[in-house]
Amino acid sequence: MKIETILAHAGLCTDQITGAISTPIYQTATFRHPAVGVSTGYDYSRTINPTRQALGKAMAELEKGDRGFAFASGMAAITAVLMLFSSGDHLIVSDDLYGGTYRIFEKNFKQLGLTVTYSDTSNAELVKRAIIPGKTKAHFIETPSNPLMKITDLAAIMALADSERLLAIVDNTFMTPYLQRPLEFGVDIVVHSGTKYLGGHNDVLAGTVVTRSPELSDKIGFIQNSTGGILGPQDSWLVLRGLKTLALRIEKQQENAQKIAEWLTKNSKVKEVHYPGLPAHRGHRVHEKQSAGFGAMLSFRVPDSGWAERIINRSKLIIFAESLGGVETLITYPVRQTHGDIPVEIREKIGVTDDLLRLSVGIEHVDDLIEDLEQAMAT
Ligand SMILES: *Cc1c(COP(=O)(O)O)cnc(C)c1O
Repeated sequence: MKIETILAHAGLCTDQITGAISTPIYQTATFRHPAVGVSTGYDYSRTINPTRQALGKAMAELEKGDRGFAFASGMAAITAVLMLFSSGDHLIVSDDLYGGTYRIFEKNFKQLGLTVTYSDTSNAELVKRAIIPGKTKAHFIETPSNPLMKITDLAAIMALADSERLLAIVDNTFMTPYLQRPLEFGVDIVVHSGTKYLGGHNDVLAGTVVTRSPELSDKIGFIQNSTGGILGPQDSWLVLRGLKTLALRIEKQQENAQKIAEWLTKNSKVKEVHYPGLPAHRGHRVHEKQSAGFGAMLSFRVPDSGWAERIINRSKLIIFAESLGGVETLITYPVRQTHGDIPVEIREKIGVTDDLLRLSVGIEHVDDLIEDLEQAMAT
Protein backbone atom coordinates (compact mmCIF):
# COMPACT_ATOMS: atom_id res chain seq x y z
CA MET A 1 0.00 0.00 0.00
CA LYS A 2 1.21 3.51 -0.77
CA ILE A 3 2.30 5.64 2.15
CA GLU A 4 -0.33 8.35 1.54
CA THR A 5 -3.01 5.70 2.08
CA ILE A 6 -1.41 4.34 5.25
CA LEU A 7 -1.20 7.91 6.56
CA ALA A 8 -4.80 8.81 5.77
CA HIS A 9 -5.97 5.65 7.51
CA ALA A 10 -3.66 5.98 10.52
CA GLY A 11 -5.54 5.01 13.67
CA LEU A 12 -8.69 4.09 11.79
CA CYS A 13 -10.89 2.43 14.37
CA THR A 14 -12.03 -1.17 13.96
CA ASP A 15 -14.69 -1.09 16.69
CA GLN A 16 -17.30 -3.57 15.41
CA ILE A 17 -19.99 -2.43 17.84
CA THR A 18 -20.27 1.27 17.04
CA GLY A 19 -18.39 1.45 13.75
CA ALA A 20 -16.53 4.54 15.00
CA ILE A 21 -14.07 5.84 12.41
CA SER A 22 -11.72 7.60 14.81
CA THR A 23 -9.92 5.65 17.52
CA PRO A 24 -11.49 6.77 20.80
CA ILE A 25 -9.41 8.48 23.45
CA TYR A 26 -9.29 5.71 26.04
CA GLN A 27 -8.93 8.04 28.99
CA THR A 28 -8.51 5.28 31.52
CA ALA A 29 -5.70 4.33 33.85
CA THR A 30 -6.76 0.75 34.34
CA PHE A 31 -8.96 -1.99 32.86
CA ARG A 32 -11.45 -4.40 34.38
CA HIS A 33 -10.46 -8.06 34.45
CA PRO A 34 -13.31 -10.46 33.62
CA ALA A 35 -12.09 -13.02 36.23
CA VAL A 36 -8.99 -14.09 38.07
CA GLY A 37 -6.35 -15.05 35.55
CA VAL A 38 -8.36 -13.64 32.64
CA SER A 39 -7.34 -10.44 30.85
CA THR A 40 -8.66 -8.53 27.87
CA GLY A 41 -5.03 -7.89 26.98
CA TYR A 42 -5.26 -4.51 28.67
CA ASP A 43 -4.27 -4.29 32.33
CA TYR A 44 -2.87 -0.88 33.12
CA SER A 45 -2.25 2.11 30.85
CA ARG A 46 1.48 2.42 31.55
CA THR A 47 1.87 -1.02 30.00
CA ILE A 48 -0.65 -0.65 27.21
CA ASN A 49 -3.43 1.74 26.27
CA PRO A 50 -5.53 1.29 23.11
CA THR A 51 -5.12 4.87 21.86
CA ARG A 52 -1.38 4.86 22.38
CA GLN A 53 -1.22 1.40 20.85
CA ALA A 54 -2.99 2.65 17.70
CA LEU A 55 -0.32 5.34 17.30
CA GLY A 56 2.49 2.83 17.85
CA LYS A 57 0.96 0.52 15.27
CA ALA A 58 0.63 3.34 12.73
CA MET A 59 4.26 4.35 13.24
CA ALA A 60 5.50 0.77 12.84
CA GLU A 61 3.56 0.46 9.61
CA LEU A 62 4.84 3.79 8.30
CA GLU A 63 8.49 3.18 9.18
CA LYS A 64 8.20 -0.49 8.11
CA GLY A 65 9.37 -1.73 11.47
CA ASP A 66 8.39 -4.46 13.87
CA ARG A 67 6.73 -2.34 16.56
CA GLY A 68 6.17 1.32 17.37
CA PHE A 69 6.03 2.98 20.78
CA ALA A 70 4.72 6.41 21.71
CA PHE A 71 6.46 8.45 24.39
CA ALA A 72 5.72 11.64 26.27
CA SER A 73 8.21 13.62 24.15
CA GLY A 74 11.04 13.13 21.70
CA MET A 75 13.47 13.28 24.62
CA ALA A 76 11.54 10.59 26.50
CA ALA A 77 11.79 8.40 23.38
CA ILE A 78 15.54 9.03 23.10
CA THR A 79 15.95 8.33 26.84
CA ALA A 80 14.27 4.94 26.42
CA VAL A 81 16.58 4.08 23.53
CA LEU A 82 19.69 5.10 25.49
CA MET A 83 18.54 2.86 28.36
CA LEU A 84 19.49 -0.06 26.08
CA PHE A 85 23.15 0.67 26.84
CA SER A 86 25.30 0.02 29.88
CA SER A 87 28.09 1.82 31.66
CA GLY A 88 31.27 1.68 29.58
CA ASP A 89 29.47 1.55 26.22
CA HIS A 90 30.59 4.02 23.58
CA LEU A 91 28.38 5.66 20.95
CA ILE A 92 29.26 7.63 17.83
CA VAL A 93 26.90 10.56 17.47
CA SER A 94 26.40 13.09 14.65
CA ASP A 95 28.28 16.24 15.67
CA ASP A 96 25.61 18.57 14.33
CA LEU A 97 22.46 17.57 16.19
CA TYR A 98 19.51 18.69 18.23
CA GLY A 99 20.81 20.50 21.33
CA GLY A 100 18.62 18.50 23.70
CA THR A 101 20.14 15.26 22.42
CA TYR A 102 23.63 16.63 23.00
CA ARG A 103 22.55 17.71 26.48
CA ILE A 104 21.11 14.31 27.44
CA PHE A 105 24.36 12.60 26.47
CA GLU A 106 26.50 15.15 28.28
CA LYS A 107 24.44 15.81 31.40
CA ASN A 108 22.55 12.58 31.98
CA PHE A 109 24.07 9.55 30.31
CA LYS A 110 27.76 10.41 30.74
CA GLN A 111 27.04 10.38 34.45
CA LEU A 112 25.83 6.80 34.05
CA GLY A 113 29.01 5.80 32.26
CA LEU A 114 28.17 6.11 28.55
CA THR A 115 30.92 7.63 26.44
CA VAL A 116 30.31 9.51 23.22
CA THR A 117 32.33 10.67 20.24
CA TYR A 118 30.72 13.43 18.19
CA SER A 119 31.67 12.86 14.61
CA ASP A 120 30.81 14.33 11.25
CA THR A 121 28.72 11.34 10.22
CA SER A 122 28.43 12.74 6.69
CA ASN A 123 31.98 11.40 6.34
CA ALA A 124 31.91 7.60 6.77
CA GLU A 125 35.70 7.48 6.88
CA LEU A 126 35.73 9.70 10.00
CA VAL A 127 33.03 7.55 11.58
CA LYS A 128 35.05 4.41 10.89
CA ARG A 129 38.05 5.93 12.64
CA ALA A 130 35.94 6.78 15.69
CA ILE A 131 34.97 3.14 16.28
CA ILE A 132 36.64 1.71 19.37
CA PRO A 133 36.66 -2.09 18.90
CA GLY A 134 34.81 -3.84 21.68
CA LYS A 135 33.52 -0.60 23.22
CA THR A 136 31.56 1.13 20.47
CA LYS A 137 28.02 -0.17 20.50
CA ALA A 138 26.00 2.20 18.34
CA HIS A 139 25.66 5.04 15.90
CA PHE A 140 23.21 7.82 16.65
CA ILE A 141 22.52 9.78 13.49
CA GLU A 142 20.54 12.79 12.38
CA THR A 143 20.18 13.17 8.63
CA PRO A 144 19.67 15.92 7.64
CA SER A 145 21.44 17.24 10.71
CA ASN A 146 20.17 20.08 12.83
CA PRO A 147 20.65 22.95 11.99
CA LEU A 148 23.30 22.66 9.25
CA MET A 149 21.40 20.10 7.15
CA LYS A 150 24.42 17.86 6.66
CA ILE A 151 23.53 14.56 5.02
CA THR A 152 24.73 11.20 6.29
CA ASP A 153 24.90 8.40 3.75
CA LEU A 154 22.89 5.74 5.56
CA ALA A 155 24.08 2.90 3.33
CA ALA A 156 27.73 3.87 3.93
CA ILE A 157 27.22 3.95 7.72
CA MET A 158 25.36 0.65 7.65
CA ALA A 159 28.25 -0.94 5.77
CA LEU A 160 30.42 0.05 8.76
CA ALA A 161 27.83 -0.91 11.34
CA ASP A 162 27.48 -4.38 9.85
CA SER A 163 31.17 -5.16 9.95
CA GLU A 164 31.31 -4.18 13.63
CA ARG A 165 27.75 -5.34 14.52
CA LEU A 166 26.90 -1.89 15.82
CA LEU A 167 23.37 -0.78 16.46
CA ALA A 168 22.25 2.06 14.20
CA ILE A 169 19.80 4.62 15.56
CA VAL A 170 18.42 7.41 13.37
CA ASP A 171 16.52 10.46 14.56
CA ASN A 172 14.12 10.82 11.61
CA THR A 173 12.29 13.89 12.93
CA PHE A 174 13.24 16.19 10.03
CA MET A 175 12.21 13.77 7.28
CA THR A 176 9.33 11.69 8.70
CA PRO A 177 8.55 8.24 7.23
CA TYR A 178 6.79 9.98 4.35
CA LEU A 179 10.17 11.05 2.95
CA GLN A 180 12.72 8.70 4.48
CA ARG A 181 12.55 5.25 6.07
CA PRO A 182 15.91 4.44 7.66
CA LEU A 183 14.86 0.89 8.60
CA GLU A 184 14.83 0.05 4.87
CA PHE A 185 18.59 0.71 4.91
CA GLY A 186 19.12 -1.75 7.74
CA VAL A 187 18.98 0.81 10.55
CA ASP A 188 17.80 -0.82 13.81
CA ILE A 189 15.88 1.93 15.59
CA VAL A 190 14.15 5.10 14.41
CA VAL A 191 13.24 7.82 16.86
CA HIS A 192 11.05 10.86 16.31
CA SER A 193 10.06 13.96 18.08
CA GLY A 194 6.36 13.59 17.26
CA THR A 195 6.02 17.17 18.45
CA LYS A 196 7.24 18.24 15.02
CA TYR A 197 5.91 16.98 11.66
CA LEU A 198 3.97 13.97 12.92
CA GLY A 199 1.77 16.12 15.18
CA GLY A 200 2.26 19.00 12.78
CA HIS A 201 0.19 21.69 14.46
CA ASN A 202 2.38 22.93 17.32
CA ASP A 203 -0.20 21.70 19.82
CA VAL A 204 1.25 18.53 21.32
CA LEU A 205 4.52 17.10 22.62
CA ALA A 206 5.21 13.50 21.70
CA GLY A 207 7.95 11.06 20.79
CA THR A 208 8.07 7.73 19.02
CA VAL A 209 10.42 4.77 18.70
CA VAL A 210 10.16 2.17 15.95
CA THR A 211 12.21 -1.01 16.18
CA ARG A 212 13.42 -3.33 13.44
CA SER A 213 13.47 -6.68 15.25
CA PRO A 214 11.15 -8.41 17.73
CA GLU A 215 14.13 -8.67 20.08
CA LEU A 216 14.57 -4.90 20.14
CA SER A 217 10.80 -4.43 20.40
CA ASP A 218 10.73 -6.55 23.55
CA LYS A 219 13.56 -4.52 25.05
CA ILE A 220 12.00 -1.14 24.28
CA GLY A 221 8.57 -2.36 25.43
CA PHE A 222 10.11 -3.47 28.70
CA ILE A 223 11.94 -0.14 29.17
CA GLN A 224 8.80 1.83 28.38
CA ASN A 225 6.75 -0.09 30.90
CA SER A 226 9.41 -0.01 33.59
CA THR A 227 10.41 3.66 33.21
CA GLY A 228 6.98 5.01 32.27
CA GLY A 229 7.67 7.84 29.82
CA ILE A 230 4.43 7.10 28.00
CA LEU A 231 2.29 9.36 25.83
CA GLY A 232 -1.16 10.01 27.27
CA PRO A 233 -4.27 8.90 25.35
CA GLN A 234 -5.37 12.45 24.50
CA ASP A 235 -1.96 13.33 23.08
CA SER A 236 -1.74 10.00 21.25
CA TRP A 237 -5.01 10.89 19.56
CA LEU A 238 -3.68 14.31 18.54
CA VAL A 239 -0.64 12.75 16.87
CA LEU A 240 -2.86 10.23 15.05
CA ARG A 241 -4.97 13.12 13.87
CA GLY A 242 -1.82 14.87 12.65
CA LEU A 243 -0.56 11.82 10.74
CA LYS A 244 -3.64 11.77 8.53
CA THR A 245 -2.56 14.94 6.72
CA LEU A 246 1.21 14.44 6.91
CA ALA A 247 1.65 13.74 3.19
CA LEU A 248 -0.29 16.84 2.16
CA ARG A 249 1.46 19.07 4.66
CA ILE A 250 4.96 17.90 3.75
CA GLU A 251 4.31 18.25 0.02
CA LYS A 252 3.23 21.84 0.49
CA GLN A 253 5.92 22.62 3.06
CA GLN A 254 8.77 21.33 0.94
CA GLU A 255 7.48 23.06 -2.15
CA ASN A 256 7.53 26.32 -0.18
CA ALA A 257 10.95 25.54 1.31
CA GLN A 258 12.49 24.93 -2.11
CA LYS A 259 11.22 28.31 -3.34
CA ILE A 260 12.41 30.11 -0.23
CA ALA A 261 15.84 28.43 -0.39
CA GLU A 262 16.20 29.49 -4.02
CA TRP A 263 15.10 33.02 -3.17
CA LEU A 264 17.58 33.21 -0.28
CA THR A 265 20.51 32.18 -2.50
CA LYS A 266 19.83 35.26 -4.62
CA ASN A 267 19.65 37.66 -1.67
CA SER A 268 22.75 39.79 -1.14
CA LYS A 269 22.38 39.65 2.68
CA VAL A 270 22.60 35.87 2.67
CA LYS A 271 26.06 34.28 2.80
CA GLU A 272 25.09 30.61 2.73
CA VAL A 273 21.91 28.59 2.39
CA HIS A 274 21.77 25.07 3.79
CA TYR A 275 18.97 23.17 2.08
CA PRO A 276 19.45 19.70 0.60
CA GLY A 277 17.09 20.56 -2.26
CA LEU A 278 19.65 22.98 -3.71
CA PRO A 279 21.85 21.20 -6.29
CA ALA A 280 24.87 23.03 -4.82
CA HIS A 281 24.24 21.51 -1.37
CA ARG A 282 27.08 19.13 -0.48
CA GLY A 283 24.74 16.28 0.41
CA HIS A 284 22.22 16.83 -2.41
CA ARG A 285 23.02 13.61 -4.32
CA VAL A 286 23.24 11.38 -1.27
CA HIS A 287 20.01 12.76 0.12
CA GLU A 288 18.26 12.23 -3.20
CA LYS A 289 19.38 8.60 -3.18
CA GLN A 290 17.92 7.80 0.25
CA SER A 291 14.88 10.08 0.56
CA ALA A 292 11.76 10.89 -1.41
CA GLY A 293 12.04 14.66 -0.93
CA PHE A 294 14.08 17.42 0.61
CA GLY A 295 11.81 18.40 3.48
CA ALA A 296 11.03 21.87 4.74
CA MET A 297 13.88 22.68 7.10
CA LEU A 298 16.62 25.05 6.05
CA SER A 299 19.20 27.29 7.63
CA PHE A 300 21.00 30.33 6.29
CA ARG A 301 23.84 32.59 7.24
CA VAL A 302 23.61 36.38 7.31
CA PRO A 303 26.50 38.88 7.65
CA ASP A 304 26.54 38.95 11.46
CA SER A 305 24.53 38.58 14.68
CA GLY A 306 23.14 42.11 14.24
CA TRP A 307 21.52 41.02 10.99
CA ALA A 308 20.27 37.80 12.53
CA GLU A 309 18.54 39.70 15.34
CA ARG A 310 17.21 42.29 12.97
CA ILE A 311 15.58 39.67 10.74
CA ILE A 312 14.03 37.93 13.73
CA ASN A 313 12.73 41.15 15.25
CA ARG A 314 11.35 42.47 11.97
CA SER A 315 9.58 39.29 10.85
CA LYS A 316 5.83 39.79 11.06
CA LEU A 317 4.25 36.70 9.63
CA ILE A 318 7.10 34.30 10.37
CA ILE A 319 7.02 33.48 14.05
CA PHE A 320 10.12 33.61 16.23
CA ALA A 321 9.81 30.40 18.23
CA GLU A 322 11.55 27.13 18.95
CA SER A 323 10.29 23.93 17.42
CA LEU A 324 9.58 22.98 13.85
CA GLY A 325 7.42 20.92 11.56
CA GLY A 326 4.13 22.69 12.18
CA VAL A 327 1.84 24.35 9.65
CA GLU A 328 3.06 27.80 10.70
CA THR A 329 6.48 28.99 9.52
CA LEU A 330 8.87 29.44 12.45
CA ILE A 331 12.24 31.14 12.58
CA THR A 332 14.73 29.93 15.18
CA TYR A 333 18.03 31.36 16.40
CA PRO A 334 19.94 28.11 17.09
CA VAL A 335 22.72 29.65 19.24
CA ARG A 336 20.18 31.10 21.63
CA GLN A 337 17.47 28.45 21.47
CA THR A 338 17.76 24.87 20.26
CA HIS A 339 21.56 24.73 20.54
CA GLY A 340 22.06 26.98 23.57
CA ASP A 341 23.27 24.05 25.67
CA ILE A 342 26.13 23.20 23.34
CA PRO A 343 29.39 24.84 24.48
CA VAL A 344 30.45 27.78 22.31
CA GLU A 345 33.78 26.14 21.25
CA ILE A 346 31.96 23.10 19.88
CA ARG A 347 29.27 25.21 18.24
CA GLU A 348 31.90 27.31 16.50
CA LYS A 349 33.85 24.29 15.38
CA ILE A 350 30.84 22.83 13.60
CA GLY A 351 29.54 26.20 12.35
CA VAL A 352 26.54 26.89 14.57
CA THR A 353 27.38 30.55 15.07
CA ASP A 354 25.41 33.71 15.87
CA ASP A 355 24.96 34.58 12.19
CA LEU A 356 22.93 31.43 11.53
CA LEU A 357 19.14 31.34 11.36
CA ARG A 358 16.91 28.30 10.91
CA LEU A 359 13.54 28.22 9.20
CA SER A 360 10.84 25.61 9.53
CA VAL A 361 8.70 26.35 6.52
CA GLY A 362 4.94 25.99 6.91
CA ILE A 363 1.95 25.75 4.59
CA GLU A 364 1.23 29.46 4.15
CA HIS A 365 1.29 30.94 0.64
CA VAL A 366 4.96 31.17 -0.29
CA ASP A 367 4.58 34.70 -1.67
CA ASP A 368 3.57 35.95 1.77
CA LEU A 369 6.55 34.24 3.37
CA ILE A 370 9.02 35.67 0.87
CA GLU A 371 7.46 39.11 1.20
CA ASP A 372 7.92 38.89 4.97
CA LEU A 373 11.58 37.88 4.63
CA GLU A 374 12.12 40.62 2.05
CA GLN A 375 10.81 43.37 4.31
CA ALA A 376 12.73 41.95 7.30
CA MET A 377 15.97 41.99 5.29
CA ALA A 378 15.50 45.39 3.66
CA THR A 379 18.17 47.95 4.50
C1 LIG B 1 12.61 18.54 18.98
C2 LIG B 1 13.56 17.48 18.67
C3 LIG B 1 13.86 16.49 19.60
C4 LIG B 1 13.25 16.48 20.99
O1 LIG B 1 11.88 16.27 20.95
P1 LIG B 1 10.85 16.84 22.04
O2 LIG B 1 9.56 16.36 21.54
O3 LIG B 1 11.01 18.32 22.09
O4 LIG B 1 11.25 16.23 23.35
C5 LIG B 1 14.73 15.48 19.23
N1 LIG B 1 15.31 15.47 18.00
C6 LIG B 1 15.05 16.42 17.08
C7 LIG B 1 15.70 16.35 15.75
C8 LIG B 1 14.18 17.45 17.39
O5 LIG B 1 13.93 18.40 16.48
